Amino acid sequence: MKLTVLGCWSPFPSPGGACSGYLVENLDAAVLLDCGHGVVGKLLSKIAINFLNAVVISHFHPDHCADLFALRHAVRSCFRNGTLKGKIPLYVPSQPLEDLHYFKRCEDAFSFHYLEEVLPEGVRIGDLRLNFMPVRHKVPTYATAVDDGHKRMVYSGDTMFFEEFTSFLHKADLFLSEASVRGKDKEYAQEAGHLTPAQAAELAVKGEVGQLLLTHFWPKYRLRDLHEEAEIAYGKAVELVSENMEYTV
Ligand SMILES: [Zn+2]
Ligand SMILES: [Zn+2]
Repeated sequence: MKLTVLGCWSPFPSPGGACSGYLVENLDAAVLLDCGHGVVGKLLSKIAINFLNAVVISHFHPDHCADLFALRHAVRSCFRNGTLKGKIPLYVPSQPLEDLHYFKRCEDAFSFHYLEEVLPEGVRIGDLRLNFMPVRHKVPTYATAVDDGHKRMVYSGDTMFFEEFTSFLHKADLFLSEASVRGKDKEYAQEAGHLTPAQAAELAVKGEVGQLLLTHFWPKYRLRDLHEEAEIAYGKAVELVSENMEYTV
């Protein structure tokens, strides 16, 4: 399967960039993981909306879901021109309720499904199997694993470090992990429910993953500092993603 990075910044994009958004595709299915600020413009440069089979929102922070309204209108335009017949399945947490109610305005474009209700068996989108694990963040948040029957990748969503996450990561071929906070600001990472690059590396080591990719960068940090912290902790190469990068899993 192919992973395409549509956006990698948080909580606001870098100039010309976008917040969290990742397109996972194989020959049979295309799934959008998160839809933060600016993601829909990037998505449209990669795929026609009528080829999108499902959308997963890890949590209701705007850098992961703000562009759902833009996507809603892109979907509705496909209804109007006849290129899309049915609503696109949208997998979201059922909490916080006030956020859910706000996004329910998009029900004319998406069929809503709740991540709490598809645990632990997950869902099948085409021949991709998606599984979810609750992680630890300020609001209910889910990590997503995508398995095509041969390879498996895991996207962290936003989370603080916790040991149990390594069982979900177990031997994934690729781990796309947030690395929001520099080591010097570790206390803030704990308080805000985020990872430092070194913590992402520790999860990757304990989870025995094949490849570690870092994402979810604060635009005010120097990326080379995050990169250096990650590689010191990991002891081998780590890649920081950027928009339009594609990875074969
Ligand atoms: Zn968040
Ligand atoms: Zn975020």
